[in-house]
Amino acid sequence: MNKRKNSFAIIITCIAAVLLILVFIFIRMFFFGGTSSGTAKSESATVSRQDAETENAGQTVLVGEADVIDELTGESESASESKEADASSSAESGSDESAPDGASAFINPETGKHWNSPLERYFYDEDFFKGCPKRNIQLLTPNEYSRPQTPIDEVNDIVIHYVDQPGSTAMDNRNYFESLKTGEEGRSASSHFIISTDGEIVQCVPLGEVAYASNHRNHDTISIECCHPDDTGEFTKSTYKACIDLTAWLCYAFEISPDHVIRHYDVTGKDCPIYYVRHPDKWADLKADVSKRYDKYVKKYGYG
Ligand SMILES: [Zn+2]
Repeated sequence: MNKRKNSFAIIITCIAAVLLILVFIFIRMFFFGGTSSGTAKSESATVSRQDAETENAGQTVLVGEADVIDELTGESESASESKEADASSSAESGSDESAPDGASAFINPETGKHWNSPLERYFYDEDFFKGCPKRNIQLLTPNEYSRPQTPIDEVNDIVIHYVDQPGSTAMDNRNYFESLKTGEEGRSASSHFIISTDGEIVQCVPLGEVAYASNHRNHDTISIECCHPDDTGEFTKSTYKACIDLTAWLCYAFEISPDHVIRHYDVTGKDCPIYYVRHPDKWADLKADVSKRYDKYVKKYGYG
């Protein structure tokens, strides 16, 4: 009888233990779980940039989609980081973007000077630079070979290039453009932007001025040179993502359709950017990604 009583007690204890475990699992799932439920999106918006990229690696989403979500819909760390960076880069260039005085709207924050360009009308809107990806503004010294300070007539297209110097950084290429100022090389070349293989965006020429990159289209285009690790000219994931962000922002800021993103090849037939000339399908993908990114700008900020 005593033995029976004991085994009964053991059974009751076991059942109680199992029930406790079940309750614990249920509470855990209900309150902290849901990686496959509706909370997934907000969770992914708050994971670190590194994690987000790793997560995306196995998916066929737009490269850097997580960052887009962060920047355009969330208040995550990376978004506030880039806002701070924007603020510091404008400070670097000696601008006064946020001054209430209406006159400041006529100052190009990239140069700290009046725009003096047909593009200056864009800058009447003091929000012109909203959503602009983080840039390292390293303007070239004004000179006739790489920064002639010729005003741009209009922005009709964004032209994508590759630097054709495997392994070089954005600053290497920027410094090369700077070196042309002596005229000793007898060559004219520059670009508004250069993107490193790590995704750093270096700006060499202000948006209101002509850069010497796209031949007879210099007067009405913005140029982006992309660095690459090897001879194939394929962009790294970081370069690609920064290129998508910057290109989409330029389309948004200058109110042009993402259809107006072209290759240097489309201007002169030159093999530039070579990887995207030799792989038209990859070029189509890149344009589709710019388009998606552009749509996110429009969704977030409207049509300006
Ligand atoms: Zn080119």
